[in-house]
Amino acid sequence: MRYAIISDIHSNLEGLEKCLDKIDEVGVDQIVCLGDIVGYGANPNECTEVVRQRCEISLKGNHDIVACANDHPYEFNPMAKDAILWTREALSDENKRYLDDLPEKVEMEEFIIVHGAISDPGKYIHSPADALTEFGLMNDYGLCFFGHTHITGSFELRQNMIGNFQDLELAVEDDAKYIVNPGSVGQPRDKDPRASFLIFDSQTAKMEFHRLNYNMTLAQRKILEAGLDERLAIRLTYGI
Ligand code: ZN
Repeated sequence: MRYAIISDIHSNLEGLEKCLDKIDEVGVDQIVCLGDIVGYGANPNECTEVVRQRCEISLKGNHDIVACANDHPYEFNPMAKDAILWTREALSDENKRYLDDLPEKVEMEEFIIVHGAISDPGKYIHSPADALTEFGLMNDYGLCFFGHTHITGSFELRQNMIGNFQDLELAVEDDAKYIVNPGSVGQPRDKDPRASFLIFDSQTAKMEFHRLNYNMTLAQRKILEAGLDERLAIRLTYGI
């Protein structure tokens, strides 16, 4: 099976469409989304509808959960809070129902998918120490995909040593375990502003990461026109 793994779209339709164009060009059997379809950007309905049509499976991320809730988003910083309140207003009832029904974690045939971490869907895996906890929860699985940090890269556990890699290609081997982040489609935070996703071929056990320039100017203009915080537009330029 060839999978495209996408994550953290955050209502950035231009980033999403660019990634899907590339995915269609290279060809895959399934598109898997790790959540945070909405929040921050200006096209929550459009992105949700594209995910509904194109992704065989999707998770809900913390922004999707809060977008569907009614209580005050206390856990969000002011910039994220304003954006999620705007998103709640903008989202159609049908799209909210779709997001609300998504799972937070799925054990698929060949790997586990989770938004943040296996131990807690809202946890961030930033360091080898964070990853160590998660490796301990993978049971017989050798591979787990996660998002949430918006940072492209992989952790590898081999003979009790953990490595953290940002290589654009990864060969998955039987004597190691992997926890891999495809990066963010719509708001990368690794100082590379290009949209990020990965392709995993389970037959060849090869993974390739893709970084793509997209029509960022249009995504930024829509953020400003929607009256969202201008810092949400500016950060896209810098990949932060
Ligand atoms: Zn996110």
